[in-house]
This record gives sequence, structure tokens and C-alpha cells, in this order.
Amino acid sequence: MTFTTRFAPSPTGPLHLGHAYSAMLAHDMAVAEGGTFLLRIEDIDQSRTRPEWEAQIYEDLRWLGLGWPEPVMRQSERLPRYQEALGQLTAMGLTYPCRCNRADIEAAAGAPQEGVPQFGPDGRIYPGTCRGRQPTDTTGPDVIRLNMEKAVRAADLRSFTETGPDFQGTHALNPDALIAAVGDIILVRRNMGSSYHLSVVVDDADQQITHAVRGADLFEATQIHVLLQCLLGLPTPAYHHHRLIRDDQGKRLAKRDDARAIAKYRAEGVTPQDIRDMVGLLASSG
Ligand code: GLU
Repeated sequence: MTFTTRFAPSPTGPLHLGHAYSAMLAHDMAVAEGGTFLLRIEDIDQSRTRPEWEAQIYEDLRWLGLGWPEPVMRQSERLPRYQEALGQLTAMGLTYPCRCNRADIEAAAGAPQEGVPQFGPDGRIYPGTCRGRQPTDTTGPDVIRLNMEKAVRAADLRSFTETGPDFQGTHALNPDALIAAVGDIILVRRNMGSSYHLSVVVDDADQQITHAVRGADLFEATQIHVLLQCLLGLPTPAYHHHRLIRDDQGKRLAKRDDARAIAKYRAEGVTPQDIRDMVGLLASSG
């Protein structure tokens, strides 16, 4: 299999130094192995994505010296594929519609108890209010959740290989931790037709990604992705979670950090090699 990496930005704001690092690292790793670097636009949240941000992504990445095969995969064009994967999970009896809003969940969660985690990689751990509902018992734009307890029982759980600096090694999925510290994750967000977790898993498989290169902040979400791969019969790539680029105060960069936007550096006359130096990457050979 060809060594294949990807950069998967959401067009919800300008790319900053952290994105540049992630993209260049994924690109350099593929080039070093004689492999392929792919680009994917993660635009399922149509309320936050803008065509001008997408155009800016292409421009910034080209300016950085990166190239990728066309056509670029865009999640907004793949909703039928996500529905198909959801259908597989529903046929296995693992999904249910949930009509709780944030306030309902807070109220049902009650007072925090010592030693019981409240938040996991998918946000607040769902207290299970709607868990008894059938997939057909839906009145409108509900979210669809995964019944985690049933899911870990249905799956033949695998380990995954991590090659990034902080978590290097083989990681086994822990069913108890998935139930208690992750919980019933959202597979389909309200009015979105999918979720980050479902889409990323289906897309990485369809793009035949062998090495998923991304920020260390997504390490905890990887157990969700590997679980979904097990349930859907999809391959598990190796993961490489890289360090996060931080500002002078040690805070990780966010989309609103316009001061560190690639476009801004460009306008100031900074070169792509300067950007590489800033994030601590060697010159690329490809
Ligand atoms: N779209 C995600 C982001 O911008 C990246 C997803 C991934 O690399 O798995 O943070």
C-alpha cells in the first residue's frame, strides 16, 4: 500500500502557523517515503464554512510549496456515503436518536461526582436520557448517538500504532474507558448529516490513508475513530499526533489568531522557508 498522508482543514477561518506545520509535516512524511499527500476539505458544518476560506486554503498551501492530487475530497459532497456508514451501525442496533439540548444534558448530568469524568473527547459525557429510543422514534432534527456499551460489545476491538513523539507505541482500546470516559458520542449532528468522527473515519478509509498526521489535541479522539473502524470493517491507519504550535504565552493557536495567519505573514514578505524555520521543520526535498 502506498504511504499516504492527508491534511484535513475546515474552511472556517484562516490557516495559521499550526495548520502550516501540520500540512507541511504530513506532506514531508509522504515525500520522504515516496508516497502521496492528500488534501481533504472538512466542510460538513455548512453554517461555519465559507468559500473564501476554502479558496484561501488552496492559495496558502500552494504558496507553502505543497502539491496534491486533484480532485480534492470535500466532505459536503459525501453525505450519502456517511448515511451509508450510519445505516450499517443502525442495522447493528447501535444507534439512537437524541433530542436533548445542552441544558437538558447539564440538568441530567447532575452534580459532579468525585472520580467520575464529566468530559471526554466528544465533549460532555452523555447521561443516557434518550438511550432507550428506537432509531425510528424521531420527530425532527435530532442528533444520532452511538450506544457505547453495545458498541464495545459488538466490536472486535483492535489496537492502533502511534508514531508521534508524545504517545509513541501501540495503544489497545479499553472498553471500560470508552464507556465511562467517552460515552455515547454523536454520529450525526443536528442538521449536518454527519459528524466529525463519522466523516473522518469513512474518509480516511476511502482515501486509503496509511498515516493520519494531525495535532496532539486529537489523540484522545483516536480511540473513537478506531472503534468506528472496527464496527464498520474499515482499516486502521497508523496515527502520528504532532506537537501543537503555541504562541509566545504558550497558548495553542486558534483560528481567530489572525496575527499568525499564513496570509498575514505572506503579506509582510515572509518566505515559505521562514515559515518552516518558525515551526522547526527542515527544508523539504519535494
Ligand atoms: N478537520 C480537523 C481540524 O481542522 C482535522 C481532522 C483530522 O486531522 O483528523 O482540526
